[in-house]
Parts: sequence; structure tokens; C-alpha cells
Amino acid sequence: MPSFVITEKCDGCKALDKTACQYICPNDLMVLNQDLMKAYNQDPDMCWECYSCVKICPVQAVEVRGYADFVPMGASVTPLRATDSIMWTLKFRNGMLKRFKFPIRTTEEGKAQPFDHFPTGDDDLKSPTLMCEPAGLNTERGPVKMDKVLTL
Ligand code: SF4
Ligand code: SF4
Repeated sequence: MPSFVITEKCDGCKALDKTACQYICPNDLMVLNQDLMKAYNQDPDMCWECYSCVKICPVQAVEVRGYADFVPMGASVTPLRATDSIMWTLKFRNGMLKRFKFPIRTTEEGKAQPFDHFPTGDDDLKSPTLMCEPAGLNTERGPVKMDKVLTL
């Protein structure tokens, strides 16, 4: 189920140029209604429920109705970010609460190195190999393109 905004809670990120949910959505789905100062998901069918907007919203105004294999039927899942951890609160339909706290990455914004210390195979963006291949496959050579196979 896609994300949705609880309009009573959303304050439009207090009129900042780009709201937190707009900044974080990898699919550019969140938009701000400038008249109402409320955000909304402009194309729910395209939402892949990554929870990024849910986690970043400073006032917990975004929710995702999780699928039953992940969230028990009728329950809600609410994350609360701290500087070094995230607290997930599960509220079951009978009112029972459960909380789980997980550490989060503390790399300063804009400083993350995509590959960090992991080997990347090669730096060719058109290469069919994935990060860590071929080493991650425990082979000497990763997958090769068909045209190369034909000339081998
Ligand atoms: S991040 Fe939260 S408060 Fe800010 S615009 Fe989005 S839904 Fe509203
Ligand atoms: S759940 Fe992910 S894909 Fe969906 S609107 Fe939020 S940030 Fe975008």
C-alpha cells in the first residue's frame, strides 16, 4: 500500500523550499500543495513503500499501510528517528504496543561513499557485473556480455 499523508499533522515542513519528504523520495512522488501547505503522494501507484518519507517526516505525518506479511493486519508501524538510532513502534489492533530500536548510519549528509570499502569489480558503468562481483561470487570472473561469449 502506498504512503499517505495525515493532513492534520503535516505542517508543510514550515514552508521550507523543499520539504523533507520531497527531498527523500527516490521516486519524486511527494509534492507540496502551496495553498494548503500540505504534502501528498501525487502518484500512489508508483510508490514502492520504501518508508523513506515515513522515516524522515519530522512530525510523523506520513504512514504506509503495510502488507500483512510485514505488518500484522490492522496494525500500524511508526518510526521515530534519533541521531544514532531509529525506534519503530508497532501498534496492534488490540492496542498492544511493541517497540524495536535499531542503530542507524551516522555519516554526515552528503558524505556517504556509495561503495565505501567494498570492492566494485570494475568501474565500467556498462559492465554486467554487480558490486562485489566476481569476488562475491567466489569465482575468478563475473558474468560476461553475450557478445563477448560469442567471441570467446
Ligand atoms: S515531511 Fe512531513 S511535515 Fe514535511 S511536508 Fe512532508 S508530510 Fe508534511
Ligand atoms: S514510501 Fe518511498 S517511494 Fe513511496 S512516497 Fe515515500 S519515499 Fe516515495
